[in-house]
Amino acid sequence: MARVALQTLIDRSTKNMGSGIHSVVKETAIEVIKRAYKEGINVQISSGYRSNAEQQRLFNQGRTTPGNIVTNARPGQSMHNYGLAVDYFLTNESGTTAVWTVNANWRRVATIAKTLGFAWGGDWTGFVDYPHLEMTGGLSLSQLQAGKRPNLVSKVGSVSTPKPSTSKPAAKPSATKWAKKNGSWTGQVLQKWDEGSAVKDLQTKLANNNPPFYPEKGAKNNGIDGYYGANTVDAVKRFQSYYGLAVDGVAGKNTYAKLVPAKTTSKPVSKPKESSGGKYGKLKIVGVSAAAIVMDSPDRNKAKNLGTVKLGATLPLNGSVKGKNSDTGYWEVEYKGKLGYITGKFGKRV
Ligand SMILES: [Zn+2]
Repeated sequence: MARVALQTLIDRSTKNMGSGIHSVVKETAIEVIKRAYKEGINVQISSGYRSNAEQQRLFNQGRTTPGNIVTNARPGQSMHNYGLAVDYFLTNESGTTAVWTVNANWRRVATIAKTLGFAWGGDWTGFVDYPHLEMTGGLSLSQLQAGKRPNLVSKVGSVSTPKPSTSKPAAKPSATKWAKKNGSWTGQVLQKWDEGSAVKDLQTKLANNNPPFYPEKGAKNNGIDGYYGANTVDAVKRFQSYYGLAVDGVAGKNTYAKLVPAKTTSKPVSKPKESSGGKYGKLKIVGVSAAAIVMDSPDRNKAKNLGTVKLGATLPLNGSVKGKNSDTGYWEVEYKGKLGYITGKFGKRV
C-alpha cells in the first residue's frame, strides 16, 4: 500500500484548522507535519480554530448530550477559540485510518512541535490532552478574554529538530489506556481511565465518608489503588445517588462539594439519636407507584423478596451497597429485624 502523500496530509490539516487559525500557528503546524513525514510519521491536524458555538457543542458532549466528556473548557475558555491551538492524530501508512494510540511516534510529534514553539497538552498535570498543541505567546486566558492578542514569532525557518533518541524502547500502547492524574483531588473532573494520586485521593475520601463508599470492599486496601476503573465508577455512582446528585459516575465539583463539605466554625449540636433511625438515619421510599420491594440481597434479578414498603414510608437506613443489576446500587435497610435491600432509585435518605 502506497504511503499517503505529504501534500494530502497538509491539505486535510489546512481545511481542519479553519480560517480563524493564527497564521504562525498554522505555518508551524504544517512544519510539524512536514518534519514528522520525513521521519516516516504520518500526522494530521483534526481541528484548529473553534467558534464559541462549536466550543459550546463540545462542552455539552458528555454533559447534556451523548458521548464522553472531551473538554472542560466553555466558550472563550479554550485556546482553540482564539485560533492558537491545534489537535493532531496519526494516520496509518495510506492515510485512510486515524490512529489515536499515544505511542513513541505520537510523542515524537510532540517533541518536534515543542522545538518549534508549541506547548503540548500531554505535559499537563490536570486534564491531560494528548492531541493538543498550543501557542499562547505568554498570554493567559483572562488576558485573551480581555481582548489581548499574542505577538507570535515563527521558528519555522530558524530551528532544526534534534534527532530522535534511539536508546529508549517504544512505549507500550497498553500503558496509554490510563490518563495520569497527579496531585491531590480538589474537585477537578476525574473519570474512568484516570490514574494517579488524585484518583487515590478521591477513593480515600469516598472510603472515609460516613457512610463509606469503597471502590471494592474486602479487596486489598478496599480497592483504593489510584485507578479509576469500573469499581470506582460504581462507588461514585452510589455516592451520587445517596446524596441526590446527578448519577454519572464522573467525580467533579458537585461530588467534591458533598464529599468535602466546607468547614463551619460553629460546632454542630449533637442530636439525640432517634430510636427509629438506622446507622445512617432513615430512608424514605420514593419513585414507585405504590410500594418498593425489600429484597434479601442486593441483586434485583436474583434476590428473594422479604416484603414491600409503601411509597412515602421510612425505614432505618444502614448504608448504600454495591450489588448486581442496578446502576445506582442498593440501599441497605433494617426490615423486620433483618437487613434488607431496596433498589437505589426507589429511596431517598431523609
Ligand atoms: Zn485541543
